[in-house]
Amino acid sequence: MAVVERSAISDVIDHHPRLEVKNPITNHVIRSVVIGSHEDVSAAVARARAAQPAWEARGVKARAELLRRWSDQLWEQRQPIIQQIREETGKSEGSAFIEIALIDNLVDYYVRHAPRLLRPQKRRAAFPIIQRAQVHYKAHGVAGFITPWNYPLMNAFIDLVPALIAGNTAVLKPSELTPLTALRVVEMMVEAGIPADVVQVVTGDGSTGATLVDVVDYVAFTGSTATGRKIAVRAAERLIPYSLELGGKDPLIVLQNADLELAASGTLRGKFENAGQACIGTERVYVEAAVYEAFVERLLHYVEQMTLSAERGFDVHVGSLTHERELKRTEAHIADAVAKGAKILYGGKRRPDLGPLFFEPTILVDVDHSMLVMQEETFGPVLPVMRVHDAEEAIRLANDSVYGLSAALFTQDLKRGEQIASRLDSGDVCINRPQMTFGTFSVPMGGRKQSGVGRRNGPEGLMRFVTPQAIVTDTTWFSKPTLTQADPLTISVIQGLRRFRALTTFLRM
Ligand code: NAD
Repeated sequence: MAVVERSAISDVIDHHPRLEVKNPITNHVIRSVVIGSHEDVSAAVARARAAQPAWEARGVKARAELLRRWSDQLWEQRQPIIQQIREETGKSEGSAFIEIALIDNLVDYYVRHAPRLLRPQKRRAAFPIIQRAQVHYKAHGVAGFITPWNYPLMNAFIDLVPALIAGNTAVLKPSELTPLTALRVVEMMVEAGIPADVVQVVTGDGSTGATLVDVVDYVAFTGSTATGRKIAVRAAERLIPYSLELGGKDPLIVLQNADLELAASGTLRGKFENAGQACIGTERVYVEAAVYEAFVERLLHYVEQMTLSAERGFDVHVGSLTHERELKRTEAHIADAVAKGAKILYGGKRRPDLGPLFFEPTILVDVDHSMLVMQEETFGPVLPVMRVHDAEEAIRLANDSVYGLSAALFTQDLKRGEQIASRLDSGDVCINRPQMTFGTFSVPMGGRKQSGVGRRNGPEGLMRFVTPQAIVTDTTWFSKPTLTQADPLTISVIQGLRRFRALTTFLRM
């Protein structure tokens, strides 16, 4: 397959520096890939640029159909892909399966809705009848994707799919920790009939990503806030459009009228999905005082039933961490909290008996906002739980963050829940089921404040990949040669329209 030869620019050229991809559970090298150079990235983008007009000319339905074929194959062949994801991340089988289910549903959403969303629109002309006004949607050209390691399938393709359907060609730079899933899945796109130059992978590290930003026409980045800021600066210098899906410190509020069984089990799910390494993972919990003790008791009841393991199976709730950096930060946040008075209620230790990067699901209580664990993104398996007086205090503390990605709350009063949700400074809010907006592809997802710029999913997630072009056509039915904008005919039409507007305004009163 062409894509493999290219991404593996690579496997044949000896002088390329390479990076090793390791299995976090065994610590064994699975394979090495090249660190794409400036020339490699530029060549990939040049091929993508040459392929783009023909790809766009196919039309949205034909493009969407190819992506549908690819997602069907992905679904059919999900077992080896799940194993591939697990091999390079160490995550549980359930978390890897969810990645496939999400992409499958994403493709279905855009296959159904993109043809309508991208259709040229008629708009009101300045001079109705004698002029026509339309908006057409044109692809940007070559879109670059720079993605993280925590969901090597989902985060690599969630933006790339709508970009392709919108008529862009794509060059993907996956995380240096987890490039193998992306390589295989792009190969499957080519097998499904998408031309090899339309979608390519360049493997490498941050330097490869930085080069990509220098040569593409749009950049969609998912990763840390620190890297996102650098990309935004470079994109601004080049005046190219971009979107950034960045870090978070997602709050979860438990109101006193919540169903505590659902709240406790849902909080654990929201926290320990992918061992806490989810951008929309629950990072801090605020519980109304009236139910605090009962909620914490239920948390303990359920957390004791969670399985931490390297084994396969959907009954494993928590797998390995992927990178030592997250393990060390998790420990540092726990140590800082304990030094400032927090108590470890559950967990708190490494589990080297399971693998080098396993860490127990951990619950902290007696926490406050002086602690790192309530301020900085932990991205690991630690759940800090804080008692608050009432909902007002919970809202104030939830909004006391530089981040604003997702938020969650539990209540049985759905109306009040929706009112409180609208007061939270976050891109989305999930009521009674954390992380649900992420899989709801009809709604936009993305961050406020330092959690990002732009939105993925929904119509917003598709339309960022096109640029609107206005086309206004004069029928010339009444046109005469004239050297001024204010010729007699134009003046009388303007006056007529002005009188018509005054009349319709009067009738509406
Ligand atoms: P990271 O910023 O270290 O790396 C992300 C990607 O950027 C990698 O492919 C990396 O090689 C590349 N990169 C690094 N430096 C670069 C540079 N100067 N120019 C261009 N590219 C560069 O992030 P990470 O550790 O891989 O991912 C974890 C972070 O991602 C967390 O903060 C998490 O919250 C965030 N995240 C956000 C979302 C979201 O949807 N908002 C989703 C997943 C992860």
